[in-house]
Amino acid sequence: MLDFLRPSVRAMAGYTPGEQPRAGGVLKLNTNENPYPPSPRVFEALREALTGDRLRKYPDPLGTRFRETAGRVLGVDPEGILVGNGSDDILTILTRAFVHEGGLVVSMTPSYILYRTLAELQGADYRAVPFTAGWAPPDPWPVRRADLTFLPSPNSPSGTALPVPVLAHLADQLEGPLVVDEAYADFAEADALGLAKAGRVIVTRTLSKSYALAGIRFGFAVADPEVVQHLVKVKDSYNCDALSLVAAEAALEDQDYLRMTRARILATRARLERELARLGFEVTPSQANFVWCRRSDRPVRPTFEWLKKRNVLVRYMAYEGYGDGLRISVGSDAEIDRLLEELAGEPGA
Ligand SMILES: *Cc1c(COP(=O)(O)O)cnc(C)c1O
Repeated sequence: MLDFLRPSVRAMAGYTPGEQPRAGGVLKLNTNENPYPPSPRVFEALREALTGDRLRKYPDPLGTRFRETAGRVLGVDPEGILVGNGSDDILTILTRAFVHEGGLVVSMTPSYILYRTLAELQGADYRAVPFTAGWAPPDPWPVRRADLTFLPSPNSPSGTALPVPVLAHLADQLEGPLVVDEAYADFAEADALGLAKAGRVIVTRTLSKSYALAGIRFGFAVADPEVVQHLVKVKDSYNCDALSLVAAEAALEDQDYLRMTRARILATRARLERELARLGFEVTPSQANFVWCRRSDRPVRPTFEWLKKRNVLVRYMAYEGYGDGLRISVGSDAEIDRLLEELAGEPGA
């Protein structure tokens, strides 16, 4: 059988998601999950969904009720919303819809590495444009002709966001679509929804982080309604199950809860940034629910290993031509206290 696999599939490494340890007692600050539970309304809606006839029947393939809710909450045309089984599903749909075999996918580095995997699966080439020292895209943009250009804002691992005029300027230079991956936009000061409404970019969102629903798998895109009509043909008919649709709709309905948990996370983030700097880390000011930190005096791999031995899991990342760093999710205040305690206790720190 192996010989019959597509060569591009055999050759690719595959995407490795952040570790999800099975053993208990591990403080997980490695995959940017929300430290707070989802809105109580999500649990209510799920309980109610289980009492009816929902599980016996197929779900709504378009997620009409979710689209109406999201359209109202975000001020966008519901027809311009595409639902997905996590925003990774949305990114896959976009790649399948826009990227030709032998085509080109472009993103930046250091950044989210799933885009490369998606390009490889599609049999396309991939190119990563380095960020400038100030976490901006180079101007002029060097690769104008691409089937698809992915840009996370806020970016992972840096946590830095690109100002809307910078995104607009970049979109103007491209001869293909720009996808702004806004997985962390709810933690940022601005977002690109206005550009998506104007049809100048495609914005992708996830409920995994700001809405604390990583286990449910739900994401969506905001794009030109006419484009969405074509994207619907590319997705699996029932890519979102009945329970995820119900949970996602209830989560979006509770904007007060989002504001409250967001405010807590931003306050803890500010404290984490200050304390990391005090411990000698170089900290990049974050617009997301994680903090990227490095050291100029030594590599941070030993720090990662030390924390891991102490049952504190953060994300270690190293990028060619850039070096390494730790991406630390903003947990609850108690969790961050524990992290800081272990960091202060590192031998040689
Ligand atoms: C977490 C993350 C996603 C994926 O979110 P899911 O909805 O859980 O698939 C997409 N892009 C970036 C940059 C992320 O960090």
